[in-house]
Amino acid sequence: MFESLSDRLGGVFDRLRGRGALTEADVRAAMREVRVALLEADVALPVAREFVEKATEKAIGQNVLRSVTPGQQVVKIVSDALVEMLGADASELDLGVTPPAIIMMVGLQGSGKTTTTAKIAKRLSAGPGGRDRKKVLMASLDVNRPNAQEQLATLGTQISVATLPIVAGQQPVDIARRAMQAAKLQGFDVLMLDTAGRLHVDQALMDEMKAVADVANPAEILLVVDSLTGQDAVNVAQNFSDQVPLTGIVLTRMDGDARGGAALSMRAVTGKPIKFAGTGEKLDALETFHPERVAGRILG
Ligand code: GDP
Repeated sequence: MFESLSDRLGGVFDRLRGRGALTEADVRAAMREVRVALLEADVALPVAREFVEKATEKAIGQNVLRSVTPGQQVVKIVSDALVEMLGADASELDLGVTPPAIIMMVGLQGSGKTTTTAKIAKRLSAGPGGRDRKKVLMASLDVNRPNAQEQLATLGTQISVATLPIVAGQQPVDIARRAMQAAKLQGFDVLMLDTAGRLHVDQALMDEMKAVADVANPAEILLVVDSLTGQDAVNVAQNFSDQVPLTGIVLTRMDGDARGGAALSMRAVTGKPIKFAGTGEKLDALETFHPERVAGRILG
């Protein structure tokens, strides 16, 4: 992840640190390189532009150049800007509502939505460090894709998490209602609703999702997007965000994403925090997304 960005920024930083004094022209030249590095990592153009403008302003505005270690300070300015671009503070799941807390999972087909539903359910039911274990129920509302409901049931068995019994012929909103009732009656802490995906964003998908969100009033609506699709992932997020009040993003396939453009632009473009990163096919391959740690990894 982020290998080439990491290399490029490392090179710029080494050159900055290696010089005693810096002129405004040196800073501008370095920032041009930073901008190219961001664009090569597939960061959205307006995001890269704003990043560089702000960092340049700080670097030449605040007596940085007259300080004893100008190179170090410029490096710090760029590092801080990177953390800010990634979303500053880590954003956890907010399940502090009267149980059952409902987590609604949305996204396009193939994004990794069902796998991610199971990954989050597994993590919640195990509890962080074995503490605060949640009793989790999962329900698939996907009545379009053959076997979608069975797929979730199979994953549930693998991770020892309950799934809502399948009733053939029921529509998504009715399944959601039945799941909510079952969760309430059987004392579940968390109910995860895995909604249907489509190959493209379309109005039918959006309408179905909005109807389910209205009925379920979820504590979290998480959009699952494939990081390998780069700026498309960011556009998809923007589309979904315009239709339902997303509370966060899960970026899947980060294990295969060398460039990291979706992760880098997501927060700045959509305003939504990345909450988790999927890092493999296994059901424990899910990481909480910590912006400072990710920035730390990029900066080596
Ligand atoms: P859905 O159609 O969105 O529900 O997608 P699925 O959950 O069925 O996932 C599609 C494929 O992507 C499956 O083969 C998953 O194992 C795989 N997958 C999901 N998340 C990740 C991830 O973070 N990394 C990798 N490498 N594969 C993933």
